[in-house]
Amino acid sequence: LKKGTGTLVETVIWDGSRSGPRASPLFQQTVRRPETPKSKQFMCGIVGYIGPHDAVDFLIEGLRRLEYRGYDSSGVVTIDDGEEFAVTKTAGRIDDLFAKLRKSPAPGCIGLGHTRWATHGPATDTNAHPHLGGDRDDAVVAIVHNGVIENFRTLKQRLIEEGYEFATATDTEVIAHLLAKELAERGGPDENAIDPYAPLIEAVQ
Ligand code: GLU
Repeated sequence: LKKGTGTLVETVIWDGSRSGPRASPLFQQTVRRPETPKSKQFMCGIVGYIGPHDAVDFLIEGLRRLEYRGYDSSGVVTIDDGEEFAVTKTAGRIDDLFAKLRKSPAPGCIGLGHTRWATHGPATDTNAHPHLGGDRDDAVVAIVHNGVIENFRTLKQRLIEEGYEFATATDTEVIAHLLAKELAERGGPDENAIDPYAPLIEAVQ
């Protein structure tokens, strides 16, 4: 029973041998459990690493620390020396993700990790983040995202008409392809610009 600022939890234990209108429970207790703060409800977790060590160790540790926020699936991506993306995802717990990574390790010193609260598309391995943008076989960006893209249907339709192939049912994947499109049309970020990444931000606004 939810009421006021907390959750009323009532525990009642009946003794089966007593019955009738005058029967009373053996034990009855009502407590008010404080509500989970809004900031801790349905918040996905995002963690990133760039450094001299294998990214995966830090990503898994970071995601474990974010588990308290709740999630329905999880994933990581790393980039190895050959600039290949290694994506590992699961519609399960961080322990399941860790088990997958032990079976097929994801090398690389750059990486992203994500715990998802599905809003668009069910909690499946495929819909878990990260998502890749660009050609299926030659992705140019990998992204994770927290939140909702209200107009994703319009954007998705437009991108499909331009030849982009979608692998997931998420709203997030449009961001990956919008970034890939921007990079394809304008080339990489202009490092001499005041804000080299401004065009990329603009592309997804
Ligand atoms: N809307 C995105 C999805 O459904 C992100 C959800 C989240 O914030 O975890 O994949």
